[in-house]
Order: sequence, then structure tokens, then C-alpha cells
Amino acid sequence: MTISEQIKILEELAGIDAELKTMDEELTGDRSTLTTLKASLKKLEDKRGEGKTALDANEKNRNEFIIDVRTMMQQVEHSRDKLNRSRTERESNAAQREVEELRKLLRDREDEIGRLTTEGDALRLSLEGTQEEIKKLEAELGSNEGAITQKLGSVESQRAQRQKARDEVAKKLPPVVYRRYETIRGRRGVGIAQTSDGTCKACNMALPPQLYHRLRREPLIEQCQSCQRLIYFVPPVAGQEAEH
Ligand SMILES: [Zn+2]
Repeated sequence: MTISEQIKILEELAGIDAELKTMDEELTGDRSTLTTLKASLKKLEDKRGEGKTALDANEKNRNEFIIDVRTMMQQVEHSRDKLNRSRTERESNAAQREVEELRKLLRDREDEIGRLTTEGDALRLSLEGTQEEIKKLEAELGSNEGAITQKLGSVESQRAQRQKARDEVAKKLPPVVYRRYETIRGRRGVGIAQTSDGTCKACNMALPPQLYHRLRREPLIEQCQSCQRLIYFVPPVAGQEAEH
């Protein structure tokens, strides 16, 4: 196989590799769109779970306090009866203190119920908001998931075809050239570079004049000394002739 033929095959290979790279980026993007939507949904569902737990606890506390208040009111009645029935000043003072203490406890409980009511309303409102967000996201996921999954499938099968073509092309190259190409591609993303005027078109560094001279004289594959890519000469496009 001539060097010119190797260059042609390398170019074909680099072209397919560029296509594969684009497809991989597309696949990654689409997959991450789905993953992000699903992760957001999961987060909202967790938030809803936490909201429900908090609301349950709030309602349980509030109900207990309401029962407490009922009991206390009965105790107040009871103490008031005692006050009415008291015959000595000492008895009367004691009953009076009892009534006052109970009333104070009762006020505290009622304040607490008020606070829990406000808190419960806020929790309910936030829970409704979360529920709305979940509905919206579920709708978005529902309308996108099918299309994205379909597109993923089509890009994946397209990619598999190009991969097969690549394997065929790669087989044509001398193994040593192919291995070098692969090593450089792994490090640099792109394995080949051209020169038309003495600079590497991939990294823009000037080639040593001796090297450039040899590349120009006959078909040759060398490596750029600064980016290591496989480099070869292509004639400049007419009108863009280099000055040196
Ligand atoms: Zn270079």
C-alpha cells in the first residue's frame, strides 16, 4: 500500500471518527435530558413525602392539643365549682389560684393551637404547590420521553452502522499506523493534521523546515513535533499560496 493510499484511509477514518464523536455527544445530551427530568421528578416526590410527613405530625399535635383544651376546660369548671363551694378564705384562695393557673395553661394551649393552625395551612399550601410541580413535570416527561427514546434508538443504530464501517476502514491500515493514530486520537481527540505552508493546521505551530521540506517532496506521514498528530502535506488551495 502506498503512502498516498494510507493518507486517504487515514482521512476517511478521521472523518468517521468525527461523525462518531458528534453522535456520542448527541446521545450524551439526550440521555442527560431524560436523566435530569427524572431526577427532578424524584426530588419533587421526595419533597412531597416530607411535606406529607410534616403535615401529618402537625395535624396529630393539633388534635392532641384540642383534646387537652377540652380536658382543661372541664378542669376549670371543676375548680370553679370548688371555688363556689369553698367555705373558708383559705379554701377560696386555693381554688382561685387553681382557676387562674388552669386559665393560663389553657391560653398557652390555645396559642399553640393557633400556631399549629397557621403552620398547617402553610404546609398544606406548599404541598399543593409541590403536587402542581409534579403534575407539570410528569406531563413534560410524558410528552418528551417517547420522542427522546425513539431518537436515542435511531442515533444508536446509526452509530452502530458507522462503527462497523470504521472497523472495515481501520483494517485496511498497516497495524503500526493504525495503533499510532489511535494513541494520538485518544490523547488529542483528532489523530491527523495537515500542513500546506509549514505550519501544522491542527495546532498552528511551525514545523522544522527540514521536516516540512521532506513532507513536501513526496507523500509522507510524519508526526507534528508539538501536537504529535500524524501530519502530511496537502497542496494549498489556489489563491491561498503561502509566501515562503
Ligand atoms: Zn501540530
